[in-house]
Amino acid sequence: MSGIPDRCWMEVDAFALRYNLRAIRKAIPRGTGLMAIVKANAYGHGVEPIARECSRFGATWFGVANLREAMGLRKLGFKQPILILSAVLPGEMTEAVRRGFVLAISSLDEARQLAAVGRKLQRKARVHFKVDVGMGRLGIWHEEATLAIALSRILAGLSVEGVMTHFPCSDDNAALTKRQWQNFDRVRRVFPKLCAHVANSPSIFSAIPSLSHYEMVRPGIALYGAGPTAESERLLRPVLTWKSRVSHVDYVPAGRTISYGATYRLHHAETHAVVSVGYADGYHRLLSNRAEVLIHGKRCPLRGRVTMDQIVVDVSRAGAVKPGDEVVLIGRQGREEITANEMARWAETISYELFTSISPRVVRYYKNFK
Ligand SMILES: *Cc1c(COP(=O)(O)O)cnc(C)c1O
Repeated sequence: MSGIPDRCWMEVDAFALRYNLRAIRKAIPRGTGLMAIVKANAYGHGVEPIARECSRFGATWFGVANLREAMGLRKLGFKQPILILSAVLPGEMTEAVRRGFVLAISSLDEARQLAAVGRKLQRKARVHFKVDVGMGRLGIWHEEATLAIALSRILAGLSVEGVMTHFPCSDDNAALTKRQWQNFDRVRRVFPKLCAHVANSPSIFSAIPSLSHYEMVRPGIALYGAGPTAESERLLRPVLTWKSRVSHVDYVPAGRTISYGATYRLHHAETHAVVSVGYADGYHRLLSNRAEVLIHGKRCPLRGRVTMDQIVVDVSRAGAVKPGDEVVLIGRQGREEITANEMARWAETISYELFTSISPRVVRYYKNFK
């Protein structure tokens, strides 16, 4: 440590993560498996500490995006089975099977290719068959799923162990999700012995939970405490706090304009603080003239455009602000709180994208990890 202060950092709190793991456990029947989704560096939170905590506090599986992430996770020493959620590339199949990862597959053709790899390696390729009920991305359409799964199950070199789906509208359309669940369940009933799983974060806390938990659930955003529904947000705690510092303070008279493009013009004098965060840290440019930050426990609105390394905020109502003062971008300060979902609305996106956009320049601190 050099002893100099951080300009922009995030704090990841294991206490909140454990709280969320308990909340998820409470929402599902006892004995239901919990696949912690830790793709994309655990939604930007840092895969090693997050996976370690999840492993110690109830994760029975891990879900990652691709082979490279699976290899990274295995290298850390976790013993839980790892499901690769994206389709594997032809050039990845041998390595994925050799290492015993579980693959989500979408077609009989893919099953046959993996079976051939399994026979060659004399090690069965482990797969979960993905059923498409409306996502239109991966999976075999539910009308064709039963036959394809049945044919895959008799292939030598392949072990079909699970059946899964992924809902496109579980956060905002319960009626549609229920119909889609019924289409999945019709397939699942043909294969009652397979490990079935469908529930992402919103489905875990949804109105039809008992229908959709099956053998395990696959929470991602709920672990990190930024559930996309009001219900899940109420039951969870944010794991991440994002902070910065004031680097400069200035009294700005009426008539001046602020930042690139001169998009903000002062109608009356304001006191402005320059804050050490920009789009190079992952602070979205769409937050320009829209977002607020917390300084001295007060909401301070952004003035002008977000630039690469700096933003300007109006601190006229925040008291005597000085360089070095702490700024909260996402999180709580005093009695005020800016949630990831609130920032996401300002930036016309979702908390998932905000989290995964926080750049490596932002220093990471881990609190309360066991
Ligand atoms: C990312 C992902 C999840 C987790 O989704 P959340 O909304 O973050 O809970 C679950 N299942 C699949 C297939 C995914 O790709």
